[in-house]
Amino acid sequence: PSHAARLYTEDDPVTILTSDTLKQSVQNSTTAWLVQFYSSWCGHCIQYSPTWKALAGDVKDWDHAMRIGVLDCAHEKNFDVCKDFEIHFYPTFRYFKAHGSTSDVGKTYRGPDRELQTVRQLMVNFLQNHTTQDWPSRCPPLEPSRSEDILDLLGQKSEQYTAVIIEDADSYVGREVILDLMPYEGVSVRRALSSDKLLMDRLGVTAVPATYLLHPNGTHGLMDAQKRLRFFFSSFLKLLPGVHRLNSASLQNPAHSSKNGHKLTEEWRQFEKSKVYMADLESGLHYLLRVELATHQSLEGEELRAFKDFVTVVAKLFPGRSSVVKLLETLLEWIVSLPLEKIPYDAVLDLVNNKMRISGLFLSERVQWVGCQGSSVALRGYPCSLWTLFHVLTVQAAQRPDALANTGTHTWLTHAQRPDALANTGTHTWLTHAQRPDALANTGTHTWLTHAQRPDALANTGTHTWLTHAQRPDALANTGTHTWLTHAQRPDALANTGTHTWLTHAQRPDALANTAFEEDPQAVLQTMRRYISTFFGCQECGRHFEEMAKESMGSIKSADEAVLWLWRKHNQVNSRLAGSMSEDPLFPKTQWPTPDLCPLCHEERSGLHVWNEPTVLSFLKRHYGTGNISPKYAL
Ligand code: FAD
Repeated sequence: PSHAARLYTEDDPVTILTSDTLKQSVQNSTTAWLVQFYSSWCGHCIQYSPTWKALAGDVKDWDHAMRIGVLDCAHEKNFDVCKDFEIHFYPTFRYFKAHGSTSDVGKTYRGPDRELQTVRQLMVNFLQNHTTQDWPSRCPPLEPSRSEDILDLLGQKSEQYTAVIIEDADSYVGREVILDLMPYEGVSVRRALSSDKLLMDRLGVTAVPATYLLHPNGTHGLMDAQKRLRFFFSSFLKLLPGVHRLNSASLQNPAHSSKNGHKLTEEWRQFEKSKVYMADLESGLHYLLRVELATHQSLEGEELRAFKDFVTVVAKLFPGRSSVVKLLETLLEWIVSLPLEKIPYDAVLDLVNNKMRISGLFLSERVQWVGCQGSSVALRGYPCSLWTLFHVLTVQAAQRPDALANTGTHTWLTHAQRPDALANTGTHTWLTHAQRPDALANTGTHTWLTHAQRPDALANTGTHTWLTHAQRPDALANTGTHTWLTHAQRPDALANTGTHTWLTHAQRPDALANTAFEEDPQAVLQTMRRYISTFFGCQECGRHFEEMAKESMGSIKSADEAVLWLWRKHNQVNSRLAGSMSEDPLFPKTQWPTPDLCPLCHEERSGLHVWNEPTVLSFLKRHYGTGNISPKYAL
């Protein structure tokens, strides 16, 4: 039963209980509990586990009122405790009241219906079975409010919003929304019944369920949440300005947040959530190339391959300004043409920072987050831009299917075919130089030339492999690693070694045209995966991402599926991180796109929120498409 023992893992939103933790967790707890006692060999338990995980994810925000647990009775360690609790059948569902006795073994739910919505409603009923004495301490009242209490509030100023859900007596929406908003501050949610005619009239409510919103400034009115469903009401409220999740960081560390809840280090840049900002994408590339990769002294083997693939994908798909795209292409051309098995990273930096600037190809030299701004420097920024970059790249791959296969974007290829064209752009330095050595001597961009003239200057950098050569030309001439020199002196020799890719290419243009990415729907994602696992500074993130990739990335069959895969996985990460330390209180982790961005992406089936995936796909293509990338704030 080893695989079954992992029916639930630490990454699931459920609490995994054992004989060591069961009693201390569920008995006399500040919250109520719903525990599934299962057995890892029980087929039904295995089949039911996705529902249980979905339920736990669905009510994750309720966990200060009621928590969801599992305990595996097939685990030898748990034999005794399952006997003590008299668990005879699997699965057995037990409710534990808050503040119960230390001998409480819970109350069994025996109903045949174990659908998610039914169980969620039972949870609400069970919470309401508490008395005022044993009411879970953090759980807000769930009873309907009286009309006087609500009417008294109309027109009053307040510190926070008040949302009133008006509904029929048998509706659960109000209570569910109250519980959904538990971990949020800035809004208080109540419910009232549609049978309360006075209230209905005064508020002008004609259809239920409806949400009536009282703003802090005293104004009030019906809330337009697009659909009269729990998920829409909850999402709308969570996204109100000034409403944010109390995360564990702000709870534990109140000293760190200033009066208004956040500290701004730079002037805030206004932006629209519905846009993607070029400044974020370029700042991300800046950080990636100049900071993250620069922690590596040199790149070789797997690292070099991951880097090359990354540069290839970005050079071919990045929908940026022409100077940035050219820079990426030149970088790619350079890496591809290098005969070296190991690149000193300083050489990449040198190219990105100096040479390219001289040719007018540059990437902004500092980070400037816009859509990825955080309320403090430690939040959002780079990881946000990396997600954004990869969403943009998967969408580009889906919209321009031949971009990756098409080698015609390489300047060196164009050159082989049209040497005159390149000579004019001045980007292909060896060619220009070969034809007009004097020209290069003047620009000073071609370092080996400068070096030839001032060997001492270069001797100080120590980063260039050809330096050794300059000092011991004979040594290099023999190893054949110093290609331009050997080649310049003995062009025939190089033609034979085949180590110099541009040369090989000139001779066999077809070889290079054959890139690994041709018609591979996973190209972007596999490149992302390797970048993340090889270079992404957050190793823990890399580990999680790799797990998800291993599980399902291999089965992606089209570029559209790749777009959706990344969206789905990003939401999985959002759900796991909601309320964690890395959550910016101003930008709560939500299931994205939220209903305000895409109402038609959301539907409800048997009480459970579901996505309309075809609509999500079109939305992603529009949102991350070239037409939605704003140049605002980009240099
Ligand atoms: P982000 O999650 O960074 O999202 C950026 C923007 O993308 C959002 O503002 C929104 O506009 C859009 N967006 C949100 N969801 C979706 C979606 N489903 N599809 C398309 N667009 C969307 N942090 C951890 O603490 N632990 C981890 O294990 C972890 N794993 C990570 C793995 C990867 C591959 C990456 C790139 C980052 C990971 N992070 C992890 C960082 C974390 O996911 C966030 O990037 C970071 O906390 C910043 O969050 P954010 O609020 O800026 O939004």
